[in-house]
Amino acid sequence: METQKTLFADAMTRLDDALEHVDISADAIERLKFPKSSLSVSLPVRMDDGSLQVFQGFRVRYDDTRGPTKGGVRFHPGVNLDEVQSLAFWMTFKCAALNIPFGGGKGGITVDPKALSKLELERLSRAYIDAIADFIGPDVDIPAPDVYTTPTIMGWMMDQYSIIRRQQCPAVVTGKPIALGGSLGRDTATATGAFYTIEALAPKFGLDRGAATVAIQGVGNAGSVLARLLFEAGYRVVAVSDSKGGVYDPKGLDIPAVQNFRERNRRIEAVYCEGTVCNTVGGQTIGNDELLTLDVDILIPAALENQIVAENADRVRAKYIFEVANGPVSAAADRRLNARGIPVVPDILVNAGGVTVSYFEWLQNRSGLYWSLEDVDRRLKQNAIAETEKIWQVARERNIPLRTSAYVHALRRLGEALEAKGTRHYFAS
Ligand code: GLU
Repeated sequence: METQKTLFADAMTRLDDALEHVDISADAIERLKFPKSSLSVSLPVRMDDGSLQVFQGFRVRYDDTRGPTKGGVRFHPGVNLDEVQSLAFWMTFKCAALNIPFGGGKGGITVDPKALSKLELERLSRAYIDAIADFIGPDVDIPAPDVYTTPTIMGWMMDQYSIIRRQQCPAVVTGKPIALGGSLGRDTATATGAFYTIEALAPKFGLDRGAATVAIQGVGNAGSVLARLLFEAGYRVVAVSDSKGGVYDPKGLDIPAVQNFRERNRRIEAVYCEGTVCNTVGGQTIGNDELLTLDVDILIPAALENQIVAENADRVRAKYIFEVANGPVSAAADRRLNARGIPVVPDILVNAGGVTVSYFEWLQNRSGLYWSLEDVDRRLKQNAIAETEKIWQVARERNIPLRTSAYVHALRRLGEALEAKGTRHYFAS
């Protein structure tokens, strides 16, 4: 059994690995080991049946050296402070790695949003903003969507903050509906950024679009859009799953047909369509654990953290892993995969498209000038490819795994900003 470390302790080992390869002051290292501030709140919500239920909420601002803290809000039964702090730590490195001028933050509420009515969900979202309003702001900390939070929820949150401040504050939250100041392309940004990273690395890995097989765990916002983008580009998507299970067909799935079926029937099946006639034949039902050990070229965990851990890492047969979820591969699993020569392209690079377009949304809200989808996409693509190339170069120069090189790349920027404020060396001379 993998020793039970907290998620944050596990996340910190990635920092330790990178520190060996970067020349950064001891002061900067010390600063990056602790969150700047954390807030835990109780959220009393009036339920539809008249009863009162109290939910637990969190917001962590990990580091704001490079700009206001930035990161999503997660609604999930498993949310706790350790997880939110880890996610805020990852956001710090994600923004630095992609040169987004933000620090890292994250929030969450311990709740099963599927068990709430829409009105209850709205009251909960507004209660969260009431509780954290003094902790956030367009120049302080900017929430966004994450697991099980939607543009509608972001709209309520922005509206509630604006009510509290008695002025329109669109830039306080990103991922809003377009009608409330959202950016074109934000809803598909995480998947689109991941797609550009995969496309940038595929030739280096010797992968060929037309032949490469792909398995995707999780068809939430990121996983479902990415499945479609890969399918349309000619990759053979052979397996997809949601929290209830999935489907596998070595010949390749008809992704648009599978997605239409899932939207109508709320379950995944291998559907194939000829014209308007669709049949559910051929696919084999598989569990989430099985999907992770399929013999494919590219494995994409796009659900939650700690999916590939010490217990199942040796059974992984994929040639390459691209982390679309945050933290899906534990540090112990990483070591086993590295030893077996299976490259893991890290979350802080692969899923950074979301925060990249959140930054564009924030810029548009502040300038009042709104961009076309082409402009958003061009800038997203340019940045994703440029930073992927730099991280690839660092990995090659130092002969280190891509995760370590992404942290080294981020640490250089963070270190420079921390050192610009003065270090022991500066004050002692
Ligand atoms: N929740 C997303 C992430 O983990 C997006 C954060 C944002 O847009 O601020 O990167």
